[in-house]
Amino acid sequence: MKLIDAHIHLSDTEYTGRVEGLIADAKDAGITALVTNSMDLKTCQNDIQLAQKYPNLVYPALGIHPWNVNVLKPNELEETINFIQQNKNIVKAIGEIGLDYKYETIWEKQTFVFDKMLRLAETLNLPVIIHSRGTTDRIVDMLPSYRLKRVLLHWFSHPMSALIKAIDKGYFITEGPPVTYSNGIREVVKNTPLTNLLTETDGPVTYWKQPYNGQLTKPSYIRNVVAAVAEIKAKPIEEVADQIAQNFEEFFKIQLT
Ligand SMILES: [Zn+2]
Repeated sequence: MKLIDAHIHLSDTEYTGRVEGLIADAKDAGITALVTNSMDLKTCQNDIQLAQKYPNLVYPALGIHPWNVNVLKPNELEETINFIQQNKNIVKAIGEIGLDYKYETIWEKQTFVFDKMLRLAETLNLPVIIHSRGTTDRIVDMLPSYRLKRVLLHWFSHPMSALIKAIDKGYFITEGPPVTYSNGIREVVKNTPLTNLLTETDGPVTYWKQPYNGQLTKPSYIRNVVAAVAEIKAKPIEEVADQIAQNFEEFFKIQLT
């Protein structure tokens, strides 16, 4: 059984000094791929190093996260774009990028950076991994004006009308540990065809509910996620895991080993 963590932040400072342990945990749990998502230039550089250190296991998604838009250094946007272009043969997606309603005071800057990231994905012909807290409707409506081949909406929560549109456009969604306890997320999974679904931990995000209880998030949580999806879909765990592994290969154009 091949398990997938399609969205984690291995370069986050909460994971500093712990990556080796996390990789061991992932291997023990049968995780065959981790997509590490960057937030800014520094994490882009670190994620490339991790991908080189753990080939055929860690894959980098590079970009600028909306939370970092306000703390970008002068030239950091240009330097990040150059860095991603220089590493285009290793980079598997542009992410994590998007718009966040909580940062509406910097809305113009957010949309400026998001547009640059989407244009970069077009140029490099790469899929995108999108953060859309409170902005999903808007993002789903704006994406068709870009020439994007593959879109992943990470941690999709609402509204259902946007989910229907997204699936109709062939977009993928990722869900993580909340699928074991959140009725809203379970409803999203119920309404998403298994062929459009990927699994994630979004670590080091901490989950406070059972069975996670606020411990440091580990890739092995994916086992709980897959089990919960299997229960919702009333399908054997192996069948769900196989489909998600296939979805991963299709979305990222990566052959799992
Ligand atoms: Zn994330």
